[in-house]
Amino acid sequence: MNKLTRITQEEIIEKFPWAAELNLAEEMNNEEGYFYDLLKWQFGNGRMKLINDMFQDMSNYFKSINKNPDVTVYEVKDVGGFLRVELLSENQNIYAIKERYEKLSEVTCSECGDLGILRMMKGGPMVLCEPCYCDRLF
Ligand SMILES: [Zn+2]
Repeated sequence: MNKLTRITQEEIIEKFPWAAELNLAEEMNNEEGYFYDLLKWQFGNGRMKLINDMFQDMSNYFKSINKNPDVTVYEVKDVGGFLRVELLSENQNIYAIKERYEKLSEVTCSECGDLGILRMMKGGPMVLCEPCYCDRLF
């Protein structure tokens, strides 16, 4: 995959506004009087590319059936080094796309997008290719 253009969370959400995480806690805030912010995505560019492609696939799918995107995203997060997405949709195909990318994240270097494997790092497990792994060791 080589060099990737850097993709930011802002760019992804601008392209796919329907994919912005719904801040449940913020809605609750009005009633319960406490505040909690969703964390900004702390992903390398390989992972960001994967998220971008996932939302692109979902968007293409809705276009192909002539419907507006019907997805509510609750959280895009990392669990044990892998991408996990909490979302709700009436459409089963959306879950199939989500699961495909979650699986892909298990073998895709989170930094550069090349083939990678799960490695135990200081900050926790990460999927990394050999060069990105070595970069982080020194
Ligand atoms: Zn890499």
